[in-house]
Amino acid sequence: MKVGVLAVQGAFAEMEAYWRGKGADVFEIRQRADLAQGLDLLALPGGESTVQGKLLKDLGLFDPLKERIDGGLPVFATCAGLILLAEKIDDPGRRDGTRPEKWFGVLPVMVRRNAYGRQLGSFMTYGVFDGQPNVPMTFIRAPAITAVSPDVEVLSTHLGAPTAVRWRNITAFTWHPELAF
Ligand code: GLN
Repeated sequence: MKVGVLAVQGAFAEMEAYWRGKGADVFEIRQRADLAQGLDLLALPGGESTVQGKLLKDLGLFDPLKERIDGGLPVFATCAGLILLAEKIDDPGRRDGTRPEKWFGVLPVMVRRNAYGRQLGSFMTYGVFDGQPNVPMTFIRAPAITAVSPDVEVLSTHLGAPTAVRWRNITAFTWHPELAF
């Protein structure tokens, strides 16, 4: 399987190591030409969603990736990657109360950025993921999923709120699966 890892900012090295560990043929997506080789899965790593979103647009990667995601390419996303996919984004850190623009806006969920606080908001817990118990779940300045559309499958929760979801071709996490499996 050929996995393209978005490598413009953030924790892409961890995402690459994860997929290599699964035996995938991994390559980095840094510019538009990288997409020419074709991919079976797109992996969106953690990082800073605003920076990643802007870079995607500046590098001309945004439209071709959106086209592929809309076309059903499997996507595996964590944290900032989830924020890039969400239909609605809420950012309590914005003093002017405005809602940040959405990016790909394809996944029918609402996310709140930095929902557990800023620096001290990183923590680890164990939980059930897709029926599998005791999965270590690391949250790093994580967003929270505050609403999901009824056709979204919830794969894990923390304090009652969804922390991993599956919808059509997309699997997305607020915690870091690449540090867990
Ligand atoms: N806080 C980051 C954001 O809002 C996400 C954190 C992460 O990807 N670990 O984009």
